[in-house]
Amino acid sequence: MRVHDVVILGAGPAGLAAAVRLAELGIKDLVVLEREGEPGGVPRHCGHVAFGLREFHRPLSGPAYARRLAGAAAGIDIRTRTTVTAIEPDGRVYVVHPESGPAIISGRAVLLAFGVRETPRSTRLISGDRPAGITTTGALQQFVYLSRIRPFKRAVVVGSELVAFSALLTLRHGGIEAVAMIEEGARITARQPSDWFARLALGVPVLTSTKLVAIRGLERVEAVEIERDGRCQTIACDGVVFTGRFRPETAILARSHLVLDAGTGGPSIDQHWRCSDPAFFAAGNLLRPVETAGVAWAEGKAAAGDIADFFAGKLPPAVASVAIKASAPLKYVYPQRLSFPTGALSPLLFKARTSRAAKGYMRVVADGRELWSRRMTILPERRLALPLSGIPRAEVASLSVEFEET
Ligand SMILES: Cc1cc2nc3c(=O)[nH]c(=O)nc-3n(C[C@H](O)[C@H](O)[C@H](O)COP(=O)(O)OP(=O)(O)OC[C@H]3O[C@@H](n4cnc5c(N)ncnc54)[C@H](O)[C@@H]3O)c2cc1C
Repeated sequence: MRVHDVVILGAGPAGLAAAVRLAELGIKDLVVLEREGEPGGVPRHCGHVAFGLREFHRPLSGPAYARRLAGAAAGIDIRTRTTVTAIEPDGRVYVVHPESGPAIISGRAVLLAFGVRETPRSTRLISGDRPAGITTTGALQQFVYLSRIRPFKRAVVVGSELVAFSALLTLRHGGIEAVAMIEEGARITARQPSDWFARLALGVPVLTSTKLVAIRGLERVEAVEIERDGRCQTIACDGVVFTGRFRPETAILARSHLVLDAGTGGPSIDQHWRCSDPAFFAAGNLLRPVETAGVAWAEGKAAAGDIADFFAGKLPPAVASVAIKASAPLKYVYPQRLSFPTGALSPLLFKARTSRAAKGYMRVVADGRELWSRRMTILPERRLALPLSGIPRAEVASLSVEFEET
């Protein structure tokens, strides 16, 4: 079995950016493995213009952006239709291809870049019938943009993260009426004025404090039942789009030797993108739900730099590290570990998220001593950046990020 320098798992923005950067850094023995028929990742099926500013300094549609990314990686060994089925220590990757069958591919370093997926209806505990016409945004985009299929005519969109607004644009592109967008919380999850965009530009009612109670229909969706202001209502529709509630794509990792973080749902990493097995690195939305393509791309590039440093023996030993604890209402902080000596820190890292809105003081505390503190209002699903000046440079025995509500 031939051992490559680097094997990259996933050819989305993170995996492709890493591949291009590694080649630029002189690491040519590279293989990228991708289960789809073409490289590019999620943007391949996001038809709207929401990509490319950070990377190519111009707005691009998802497919155009994916083509640019793949073009930049021309000459690199990208193996499509190759699904990773397992990973093992020593950089061993098990794959299967529809024609050539199963194989094992090994890397001195392996970069995990599997991305995220949305939570489908099956795991959301929505009661009612099981008719056809229920999708996630990703599946809807594949129908509309890749297969040019109109899966329904009148849809209800569940959720109000940014991707829910992508779903509205996809529905419009596919000639499908969006009957309503519903959100359980008292306000939309995406930043304002997204709901004004939905209401005024697209004419879609945005119903906050509204719960989806049940889906009705025998063969096809016929209606949804919602609960609003303590009353039940029925909305007639033939499609339901579940949006957001992203989870890192960890089906492979959950069965592996790597440590996963309960907060992010992704692999636990240190500030050099190293997993609990230091031959494995991770970047992009696999790390946490969910950032833009531009962020995933920049992370892939940064991780490539650290992989090159790993080969050059410049990374600190992964064993001298401290776990970073996050306490409620913070859901998580990543990276989850800091390895010493810390060296240069990446502004792409040290991010936190919270599960609910709160006001108070955010603090970084090392060995019982406060390194940084700021009064702030935190909102669910908004990225909180921790200042690099608040991260200890010399070895500490304990490190935590705390939020004291006031
Ligand atoms: C429905 C949806 C809509 C989105 N809309 C936007 C948007 O409009 N703008 C924006 O900036 N971001 C959007 N995002 C966020 C999106 O995740 C990022 O834009 C970006 O694609 C993240 O890049 P990535 O490389 O981390 O992951 P991905 O783009 O998800 O790439 C991961 C790649 O890994 C491959 N893969 C996964 N498992 C395996 C396996 N077992 N074997 C082999 N290959 C595998 C996948 O096929 C995929 O190509 C959206 C996400 C979703 C799910």
